[in-house]
Amino acid sequence: MPHMGEANAPKQTASRNELVVLGSAGGPTPKPGRRPVSHALVVDQNISLVDCGNGTISQFVSAGLDLGSLRRILITHHHIDHVADVAMFLHLAWSQLRAPVEVIGPPPVARLFELHYEAFDFDIQSRMNDEGRRHLREFVRVHEITGPEIFDDGSVTVTAAMVEHPPVEFAFGYRIDQAGRSVCFSGDTRPSESLSTLARGCDLLIHETTYLTNATDYLSAERATLVLPRMRSVHSDPKGAGQVAAAAGVSGLLLSPVGTFGPASDEEILAEAAAEFTGEVWVGRDFLRIPLPQPGEK
Ligand SMILES: [Zn+2]
Repeated sequence: MPHMGEANAPKQTASRNELVVLGSAGGPTPKPGRRPVSHALVVDQNISLVDCGNGTISQFVSAGLDLGSLRRILITHHHIDHVADVAMFLHLAWSQLRAPVEVIGPPPVARLFELHYEAFDFDIQSRMNDEGRRHLREFVRVHEITGPEIFDDGSVTVTAAMVEHPPVEFAFGYRIDQAGRSVCFSGDTRPSESLSTLARGCDLLIHETTYLTNATDYLSAERATLVLPRMRSVHSDPKGAGQVAAAAGVSGLLLSPVGTFGPASDEEILAEAAAEFTGEVWVGRDFLRIPLPQPGEK
């Protein structure tokens, strides 16, 4: 039934200024209990989405967020757990979009959208013909970045900095400054000085983490020799994330997404970061909501 469902548009929830975890799973293989990476920043009823793994739009709607309030999607890099649904999200949200959504990310994000328009031309054309919609591309404004960049629209400043996630050439962290709040997202990275510089003094740093402490209990000796050095060179363990948060002087640290090799409690993960960083620390869980401070209140 291709044309039903618009009547069930999500209800707008009371506006709160908060960070909402939509997906907190590190790595591409689906896992029970955690969905792929996505975080929503809600400030003054404007929503910025950072990363858009598979299933993000369902998480977004389930969290009670309003599709029409989405202003931008920032893509940190092109690993599938971060980018799978970026075009599909906007295609499915199309009927609810009131203005173009800014999409910022490294190449080939523009090509990804062009290929999506081509692959799903049947649906796009049929909705244009049957429902009088304007083409989906008119609701999407893509900005490709290949280096540090600042986007300032007068009320929101988005700062992109390159992080270290080898061998990915274009991996970005983002800082959003809006209405007196500042929130920074690491994307996937090993502990990076450019990220601690970007996050300087932020209210909240969302930093990826890969818990390695018990990894050898769940990997063969041979696999551990291969996998663990690589993990340490491309990701951050909780201690490394805590050190970046301390160097940046942020107020709070959210460890998300979270990767593990075996069962690990949130307390175990949190303790390693808290040994390095004295501010408040959370471990990412889908639908965790962290209220942002009032401007000036830290
Ligand atoms: Zn990655």
